[in-house]
Amino acid sequence: MLSKLLQNMKLSRVALIILIIGILLVLIAPFLFTRNGTLEFTTTGQIGDTIGGTTAPITSLIGSILVYLALKAQIRANEIIQEQIDDQKKDEKAKKQLTYISDLYKYFLQTVESFEYDKAKGNGGIIKLSRELANLDRKFAHDDSLYDKGKMAELNAIFRLENLFIEQLNKVNIDSNDKQYFNELIKFHLDSFVLPYINAESEKPQCILCGENHNGFPKKLAELVQKIESNIRLE
Ligand SMILES: [Zn+2]
Repeated sequence: MLSKLLQNMKLSRVALIILIIGILLVLIAPFLFTRNGTLEFTTTGQIGDTIGGTTAPITSLIGSILVYLALKAQIRANEIIQEQIDDQKKDEKAKKQLTYISDLYKYFLQTVESFEYDKAKGNGGIIKLSRELANLDRKFAHDDSLYDKGKMAELNAIFRLENLFIEQLNKVNIDSNDKQYFNELIKFHLDSFVLPYINAESEKPQCILCGENHNGFPKKLAELVQKIESNIRLE
């Protein structure tokens, strides 16, 4: 847009120069033409006709050039306005998307805050339940029937919402600083309240079912948390 503004400034300077040259030409034309003997005031009729006759072609030519330059400047000005409108639309769209993603994050926070387990609230409740699950016998990690009941179902919903949030965050076209901020918040949440309990390795020998050295934390939930973790985009 700046280059177009500069072009328009140049254009108006060119127009001014042409105008000045035109005025000078009009002023000296009657003298120029009559001096060389091409035309003489005495043989060219009335003095007014001579001045008019010699300057008219110059003035109309200069006039045409100036009209052309004015049109060109007008077209460029329209383009600049159009670009401003397009930019505004883009800003509005980004603002809407930021509101949407902020609301989704608020909803996630509310869901976490309303979670309660054994008198512990919010993230404290998540830690308490995760710790208990990790301490269960490893065979429960493979028991999918547990996983959509009661508090487990609630914890599952929290992680699903967290994953939905991070997936939506990756899709929207908002300022990269805002994106970074939300990504860091999710990373902080996982690192502080979730991952330490899932990743705590069992001291028993390898699991006979899957060959890994996991604890009692449900495999399906652990996979969901891993999915959230892999969706985090940090620069
Ligand atoms: Zn296993």
